[in-house]
Amino acid sequence: MERVSPDGSGAADRRFLMENLKRVEEAISRACADAGRPREEVTLLAVTKTVAPELINEAISLGLSEIGENRVQEFLGKRDQLHLEGVSVHLIGHLQTNKAAKIVGRVDMIQSIDSLRAAQAVAQASQRLGLTTDVLLEINIGGEEAKSGAAPEEAEELAYAVAALEGIRVRGMMTVPPVCDTERQVRAYFSRMKKLFIDIRDKKIDNTCMDVLSMGMSSDFREAILEGSTMVRVGTALFGRRAPQHP
Ligand SMILES: *Cc1c(COP(=O)(O)O)cnc(C)c1O
Repeated sequence: MERVSPDGSGAADRRFLMENLKRVEEAISRACADAGRPREEVTLLAVTKTVAPELINEAISLGLSEIGENRVQEFLGKRDQLHLEGVSVHLIGHLQTNKAAKIVGRVDMIQSIDSLRAAQAVAQASQRLGLTTDVLLEINIGGEEAKSGAAPEEAEELAYAVAALEGIRVRGMMTVPPVCDTERQVRAYFSRMKKLFIDIRDKKIDNTCMDVLSMGMSSDFREAILEGSTMVRVGTALFGRRAPQHP
């Protein structure tokens, strides 16, 4: 999956991407078939963090219409060079409250709302612009200390509190499970997440429209689809390995 020859012509990039996209698409279709689910139930979100604007544009021209970025600053820096017509952009990385005003109105969905404070910042910025921002509640399904995301036990309370804010619409939930050794382990986390999602969706909280369950990345999107994911966030399997990031 190593990036082949960035020769600047774009041709190698395009071939590289086309092959990766074909492979990922086939794997998604196979997982959907194995789960007895229609392919249309699962959205492929291309995670473009650290990816150069030219390559992102190639991906868009190949038909990828949903992209995910982790960092507000990085996305805003690349944004003017991207061909975003008809493309939905999702913020999937942790949102610092002081960055909310910078990103609201520039992305279609914020997937990483993990506290009432973050939600309030987004709500406030949205109200100021007169818009409604779609958000997902990020849940730390493995209860890992170092990871962002609300605790599963707090999810319901958070959902009610966020739903009550003006300028925000809760569209569902997102999770990044712990690194697992086996498919069985990771499926157990995804399954727990699906249950939590259904529990909260079934409360039919006012002002929510719980139709997105965002889970599964390059290494585990098959397992996530088997357990009910409606959106897989795939970076490495499409764009190749990233240089190590400094958080
Ligand atoms: C980077 C990232 C991804 C994509 O990870 P890959 O393993 O490269 O597919 C998905 N979700 C989140 C929240 C990420 O930060």
